[in-house]
Amino acid sequence: MAAINRRELLRNAFLIGGNVAASSAHLEPQRSAASQATGVDYYQKLGITPFINAAGTYTVLSASTMPPQVQAAIAVAAEHPVNLKELLVASGEYLAKRLHCESALVTCGAAAALTLGTAACVTVANQNAILGIPTDMAGLKNEVLVQRTHRYDYDHAVRNAGVRFVEVDTVDDYQRAFTDQTAMAHFFNAGEGKISREDWVRIAHQHGVPCFNDAAADVPPISNLWNYTQMGFDLVTFSGGKGLRGPQCTGLLLGRRDLIQAASQNNSPNSNTIGRGMKVAKEEIVGLVAAVDWFLEQEDEKLQTEFQQRAERIAAQVRMLPTVQTQIFVPPVANRVPHLLVTYDPSHIKITGTQVMEKMRQGNPRIELNPGTGGPPASAGLPGGQNTIIVGVWMLQPGEDAIVAHHLHEVLRAAAS
Ligand SMILES: *Cc1c(COP(=O)(O)O)cnc(C)c1O
Repeated sequence: MAAINRRELLRNAFLIGGNVAASSAHLEPQRSAASQATGVDYYQKLGITPFINAAGTYTVLSASTMPPQVQAAIAVAAEHPVNLKELLVASGEYLAKRLHCESALVTCGAAAALTLGTAACVTVANQNAILGIPTDMAGLKNEVLVQRTHRYDYDHAVRNAGVRFVEVDTVDDYQRAFTDQTAMAHFFNAGEGKISREDWVRIAHQHGVPCFNDAAADVPPISNLWNYTQMGFDLVTFSGGKGLRGPQCTGLLLGRRDLIQAASQNNSPNSNTIGRGMKVAKEEIVGLVAAVDWFLEQEDEKLQTEFQQRAERIAAQVRMLPTVQTQIFVPPVANRVPHLLVTYDPSHIKITGTQVMEKMRQGNPRIELNPGTGGPPASAGLPGGQNTIIVGVWMLQPGEDAIVAHHLHEVLRAAAS
């Protein structure tokens, strides 16, 4: 949580790329205006207390923090103006190469990618339609097929493009649901349903309809970044601010060249478009590219081992209390990393999960447990429950697992009879 100061950022930047060091060298010894400034702690000034993130990558909790090399790349990018269209094209080409897909676009989050990708399917090869959507849909395809079980909290992002959902349950329903109004077939990667990814793609393509896979929260594993485009999905999105640990307001839209092109035409910085309110700044575009570079340097096994060990260290401490049981759980698709589940007998430890969460939140330091603690599951594939405490360990900073273990042990011990 320690704020990285400006000087450290720049020093890191020098270490990363020869070009950066070279292009910034002329700023020495005078230094640029920004690098002379010391950052004010605006959280403190505004009375906002940061917390230890033992929750995971939840949007309202600001999802993830950016690794130092991402923060440093952003600080460097912030120093100079550029042409946004050039930067979007160049970053897209770079990302497409690194992520083994035809084409890519940095968007203002996965939710914006859903809107732009859907808009692309509706407006592809039809310039006039860009102006018409979402209200003037006459003559435009306006139906999106989806499994009933894949309706979710991000429906609105798709509907923003002026389309409506047509729900199906079985492969037979799906086959019969295609009409000349079908613009797209939408898939929620972490959703459950009767129709597999492979069938979803194959049948859509038989009808000449593009399919979109929302895999926003579905890295790690790292290879997911290309698994779904290679499976044949025409569009795939990942959130930039979740497992990738880029700027929270970024996302990746990956896929077919003509559709990514159409998505760009519907996007900022073009003014009279559906995406104009989804602007991504130069710092954020660069930040996501840097985050992808950082993520591709990681190794799945090392990440999983690190998270497993954090969970085990916390488990070892709370398991010393009477009736406490611990389990390490890896959700199947979204947030596929070890989580610690702690359960206990409420007649011995007289506190609900919700109360534990509140006490941890009000402690010093503040700690946020996974929002599924004491209640319904907080994301696809995670459990919940009244006497279940869920610790999301993957967004903890080094050393924070010991702090979480200590405070969780204290809160439970105080309630033990
Ligand atoms: C988080 C999430 C999104 C939205 O991602 P943002 O990058 O926050 O816009 C969309 N779909 C799913 C399944 C998500 O988990």
